[in-house]
Amino acid sequence: MSDLTKLSAVEIAGLVASGETSAVEVTQAHLDRIGAVDDRVHAFLHVDTEGALAAARVVDERRAAGAELGPLAGVPVAVKDVLTTKGVPTTVGSKILEGWRPPYDSTIVERLRDAGTVMLGKTNMDEFAMGSSTEYSAYGPTRNPWDTDRIPGGSGGGSAAALAAYEAPLSIGSDTGGSIRQPGAVTGTVGAKPTYGGTSRYGLVAFSSSLDTPGPCARTVLDAALLHQVIGGHDPRDSTSIPVPVPDVVAAARLGATGDLTGVKLGVVTEFTGEGAEPGVMAAFRDAAEALAKLGADIVEVSCPHFKYALPAYYLIAPSECSSNLARFDGVRFGLRVGDDGNRSLEEVMSLTREAGFGPEVKRRIMIGTYALSSGYYDAYYGQAQKVRTLITRDFTSAFEQVDALISPTTPFVAFPIGSRTADPYQMYLADLFTIPANLYGGPAISVPCGLSDGLPVGFQIMAPTLADDRMYRVAAALEGAVGTLTPPTL
Ligand code: GLN
Repeated sequence: MSDLTKLSAVEIAGLVASGETSAVEVTQAHLDRIGAVDDRVHAFLHVDTEGALAAARVVDERRAAGAELGPLAGVPVAVKDVLTTKGVPTTVGSKILEGWRPPYDSTIVERLRDAGTVMLGKTNMDEFAMGSSTEYSAYGPTRNPWDTDRIPGGSGGGSAAALAAYEAPLSIGSDTGGSIRQPGAVTGTVGAKPTYGGTSRYGLVAFSSSLDTPGPCARTVLDAALLHQVIGGHDPRDSTSIPVPVPDVVAAARLGATGDLTGVKLGVVTEFTGEGAEPGVMAAFRDAAEALAKLGADIVEVSCPHFKYALPAYYLIAPSECSSNLARFDGVRFGLRVGDDGNRSLEEVMSLTREAGFGPEVKRRIMIGTYALSSGYYDAYYGQAQKVRTLITRDFTSAFEQVDALISPTTPFVAFPIGSRTADPYQMYLADLFTIPANLYGGPAISVPCGLSDGLPVGFQIMAPTLADDRMYRVAAALEGAVGTLTPPTL
């Protein structure tokens, strides 16, 4: 048997279904791989060896009993530590939740289990999903398998690195401003942010509720689509979940793989001129756009004049929502409690707990958000940012009257060296220059590898109208067929 960890999810599911290999063998191969490389990568915060093998055994028993298996049965998956997992530690990369074992599964995790996938464990992330490098994880950074002195992106760096290091064929991320797509881009993997409300937030530890979107990460577009199909769709337990079926993203990925984009109109955003982006990234993007044109796509320029205000608007809206969401971490209900010696007031204990439990970036955001929402400043900051959000949504709406999808690089720069941007938060924020508009609008967007710059992966972003997730998969699969997948150097 060839190395099971090098196979795609589709290939693994096929072998398990035909009985050529067992889910237990597949799971063990991935656990062994984690054992061999994760001390160098640190993609995982928790590996659930027992739980994974038990889940795999169930799949094998069901197969032996002749039960019908789903399209991803027996396939291992790594889950970002932002999603609750019943009885399995969930930290959100923060000390404030260290040791917390949630009493319930998030909807995404429940659906993964129901589909017969095998959860290997929980992946590292920037604390509370705030960051672009995993350097803000309270448990130490994840390293990029392409170059372990470089960042794997963030906040979901663990989920992306696990794929590039062949520790898992599939993983789950969450994208508030780019945390699925940017890690995908810098690790040479595929990351998709579904339409907001297309995947459930039930059991997703909230950062910025109007933006947070869980989604699939994989090494191929088809694998990402299959995972999307499994986790997506309406959930009555999430009040912003959209009550419509998931568009047929799998069929779209298969259609795209035929390599014909005749009649598809793609828009290059005029305002994404490349200012602030590395020339190597822009060159790889332009080559990939040309490859799409050769497949029949019609490529035009589209102006989105308000995109340049997306970053500042995001850095008011997201911190404002986080300042409210994170109020629940008070030392009373969850995880850490500091200073409760019987002599201190409740307020003092809360304050000491939050002082000790939150890292500097989280505190910075809580302070910015609290300020932006305070009376007298609300209209000037939060109110203005919401108006900008509306203008950006209008840019998208009018763009999609002209084209089927928008294209851009995913990130302005390739993976940067660990430690090179932490001193200046603004430099870190720039990583999401191209990804944030889609979050403010709510539409789906995907990052697909499109080549290398200085030997490091470059991501290509495709943004589609809300609920047209299938459209981005079609273009993404066509691009993948034209430029191929990337193979990271051997660790
Ligand atoms: N990097 C962005 C931030 O720090 C986006 C994070 C995310 O998508 N979770 O807020």
